[in-house]
Amino acid sequence: MDIKNDMGIKKASDDKAEAYRNFPMVPRVVFGKGSFNQLGDILLPKRKHSDAPFIFLVDDVFEGELLQERIPLIFSDQIIFISADEEPKTTQVDALVKNIREGFSELPSGIVGIGGGTLLDLAKAVAIMLGNKGGAADYQGWDLVQKPAIYHVGIPTISGTGAEVSRTTVLLGPDKKLGINSDFTTFDQVILDPNLTQGVSKEQWFYTGMDCYIHCIESLEGTYLNAFSQSYGEKALELCKEVFLSELSSEDSRDKLMMASWHGGMSIAYSQVGAAHALSYGLGYVLGVKHGIGNCLVFKHLSEFYPKGVALFNEMLTKHAIELPKQVCSTLSETDFDIMISVAMGMHPLWENALGKNWRATITPEKLRSIYEKI
Ligand code: NAD
Ligand code: ZN
Repeated sequence: MDIKNDMGIKKASDDKAEAYRNFPMVPRVVFGKGSFNQLGDILLPKRKHSDAPFIFLVDDVFEGELLQERIPLIFSDQIIFISADEEPKTTQVDALVKNIREGFSELPSGIVGIGGGTLLDLAKAVAIMLGNKGGAADYQGWDLVQKPAIYHVGIPTISGTGAEVSRTTVLLGPDKKLGINSDFTTFDQVILDPNLTQGVSKEQWFYTGMDCYIHCIESLEGTYLNAFSQSYGEKALELCKEVFLSELSSEDSRDKLMMASWHGGMSIAYSQVGAAHALSYGLGYVLGVKHGIGNCLVFKHLSEFYPKGVALFNEMLTKHAIELPKQVCSTLSETDFDIMISVAMGMHPLWENALGKNWRATITPEKLRSIYEKI
């Protein structure tokens, strides 16, 4: 059977060679404190000519900050500041692409995304849509992108999502929240400079960091697990434990969380996420709850599926004195609950990864309702 997971991998349920996806990886990566300073040199050979600018999509938290001055602008390069308050939308991608097409006589030399998962996903999607016709919503799904994206670079400023390594860009479309999963989505270049994550608030550090921790647990406890995913997942989990449960210097902690994010992303790339992500998608779709915090809100109630993982998560919450919001679902209508449950139930590969082929025996609308009601 052709079961595809979130990243477009056919589940390797048998030993037929064609069942395994040829997964694209980021071909070039720089890691190191201050490596952001190399950006200008890295972009130089990729500049087509002076009328083909680089467009920098930058989290607006950096507007007027030192980082803005360090962006190596030349010729007609442009910075576009974007708020990460809301998760990226297909309409937002289409508007950005339209402005870029209308604003310049030539296609840009490339797109550089600077920020968290929100900005990284926007940069990937804009780069894809500058190489393809139509609107971003046309490409939500698996392997629908026909032509290469333009050159695109990802520079994370917060660690955890793994968006810097993944072959997807998660977008809220007119009728679904779904990734553009394609071989052209993956960044051409990533710059991992742990110093860029210095300004992140403690809560946000925890929520986005827990996205990585939850990737590890869902991958390692999943039925899709294989040696490829396990090797990355175990390393990422070890790093998460060091970061969130031991006493590291803040410098070490930044370095390690950045690499945990990378490894966690690699782990799920070749397996799948699980129950927390399925439920979090429902929460995000109806309430606009963001990915990291949404995962935390649901994960707390999943000890039935991930007993050890949830116990450790609770330890981390206590150690860092993180208070999760309460009664998030208390004002929802029946219709809201129904939509949320149907979005979560629809994540078949995630449930199959979490619980095996017979997942429908455990996961019923009533079961999901009872979990959501606790949040
Ligand atoms: P984010 O990009 O949503 O940012 C969270 C907050 O942190 C924002 O307020 C932002 O302004 C702030 N911030 C970021 N860097 C900062 C810094 N250095 N200093 C101060 N503030 C900073 O955070 P995220 O959790 O990394 O990303 C979530 C998004 O990632 C969601 O849209 C989710 O769908 C997406 N995602 C994508 C993938 C993928 O594989 N493509 C995987 C997981 C999540
Ligand atoms: Zn995630």
